Amino acid sequence: MNYTDTHAHLERLEEAHTQLEALFDAGFGKILDIGTVCDDLAGRIAEFGRYPEVRFAAGIWPYPQAVSDRERMAAVLEAQIEAAPPGFVVAVGECGLDHHQEQPDKAGERELFEAHIALAARFDLPLVVHSRDAPTETLAVLRDHPGIRGIIHCYSYGVEEARVFLELGYHISFAGNLTYKKSDSLRETLRFIPDDRLLLETDSPFLAPQSHRGQPCRPGFIAETYALAAELRGMDRETLKELIAANADALLFA
Ligand SMILES: [Zn+2]
Repeated sequence: MNYTDTHAHLERLEEAHTQLEALFDAGFGKILDIGTVCDDLAGRIAEFGRYPEVRFAAGIWPYPQAVSDRERMAAVLEAQIEAAPPGFVVAVGECGLDHHQEQPDKAGERELFEAHIALAARFDLPLVVHSRDAPTETLAVLRDHPGIRGIIHCYSYGVEEARVFLELGYHISFAGNLTYKKSDSLRETLRFIPDDRLLLETDSPFLAPQSHRGQPCRPGFIAETYALAAELRGMDRETLKELIAANADALLFA
């Protein structure tokens, strides 16, 4: 199977271990398990660290309560990363800017994001960036902190924005919404991404691809996203799997 999933929330899956054992028995590739709150890392490693294919990102999703309590939470996050056994944490995130939700303190949200960028620099880890309805603001922050590598996850903007993220050195990761009927602009953008910067993810349990829409997403559903991405890029599926695995290894897992 050799699929790579660069963004999943494994602790939110139903019967996660049943799913994962079946996937890994069938040869599924690596999964990056993503953090969203300041103190979820130790529990996720305890639960999923037994799978050699699973590695971890630790970060704080920019929900308003985290923004207002950002200094304390960023300190907790830093301590959790320091305390993790070596080799398990391979990225900082998810973190970023979300203006799809009501965000009462945008300056504070930026500070929380920048606290993650400081951790990425301190631990020499890539950043997993969540950016929704905030392309200009996200690009402004990343531009102010050159030399950081990372992933723009669940990419939701167009080609013009992608061009700038790529110039700044970031990888672009597409989720199951690539397969939705209205996603023509995403499909156009996917074609534009250079081979060595492309990643694919499920964002499980969110954003199930079109044929499973409305169900909780599972890492196994990523086959549909790979099939469409391969078709859009005029590539066979096995070649695309090797390409994504190599990109993810170079950035995250190697
Ligand atoms: Zn996520």
